[in-house]
Amino acid sequence: MRSFLTRLLRGRAPTAVLMYHRVGPEARDLHHLRVRDDRFEDHLDVIRRYADIVPLTEVLAPAPRPRVVLTFDDGYADNLNVAEPILRARSAPATVFVAAGVIERGEGFWQDRLAALVLDGHYDVTHIEVEIAGDALRLAVPDAATREEAYRAIHTRIRRRPPAEIERLVADVAAQLGLAATDLRVPHTLTPDDVRTLAASDVVDVGSHTMQHPMMSMIDEATQRAEAVESRARLEAWTGRAVPTFAYPYGAADAFDATSVRVARETGYEIAVTGVAQRVTRFTNPYRVPRRFVGDWDAETFERRFRGWIDA
Ligand SMILES: [Zn+2]
Repeated sequence: MRSFLTRLLRGRAPTAVLMYHRVGPEARDLHHLRVRDDRFEDHLDVIRRYADIVPLTEVLAPAPRPRVVLTFDDGYADNLNVAEPILRARSAPATVFVAAGVIERGEGFWQDRLAALVLDGHYDVTHIEVEIAGDALRLAVPDAATREEAYRAIHTRIRRRPPAEIERLVADVAAQLGLAATDLRVPHTLTPDDVRTLAASDVVDVGSHTMQHPMMSMIDEATQRAEAVESRARLEAWTGRAVPTFAYPYGAADAFDATSVRVARETGYEIAVTGVAQRVTRFTNPYRVPRRFVGDWDAETFERRFRGWIDA
């Protein structure tokens, strides 16, 4: 009965939009953003048994068979080097959402730089002192366990702040530890040339993920608009193609707001995706398309969860 009502409400076969970030071999993964490449291949094989894989721009069109849309957030280099060949071998379309300003600067994402400083840096300092949104934190960093705790305490709070404040904090932490952020190894992001190569792929479309990857709900309307407008202009200039899709950074229900949704529409995007885990229905707002987070799951775990998403 529930399934009948669900289908009536949806008025079409189920659609699931999947959210990946990185694909590649084992590496430090503090936020569970990486899926091993062999597992990613397994996921695609499972999906194909139940559903068609379609481009994001077709997500809201009614269809007789269950459908899946594949998306990748942020713009890590492994999207081109690892994921794209796998997608191409299976003729599976996907959208890669790129934080154009971060890519352009080429220094990596701030959370990767902060992690490299606090967790990998060689330093003798025993405490870090930071102030975030009026909260003064004094964090012990004598060993690996406390360093990870300190990293997480800072990350959780600072990610809600504007990009300039985040950059000041990363520089401040580097100074306190006596390290230069530029000396540290961070996961590679795509370059503008890579973005052009990716967009020229038969299977990949490039979408916008803002310039600086801010939490949209935490910045004013003019800044939200600048993030949405400039990133699209930059990506269109790099790729020579239209960029009709947008992903709200972080994507959680509190990471974007009604202003973000209006800004995405007024900027001229056709589709904007969230990270809110809901069903796609016939009533889904094209500027609030929900997505399902995919973890580094083996084929069996993925299949079990995936079947729940498409009522299989
Ligand atoms: Zn992101």
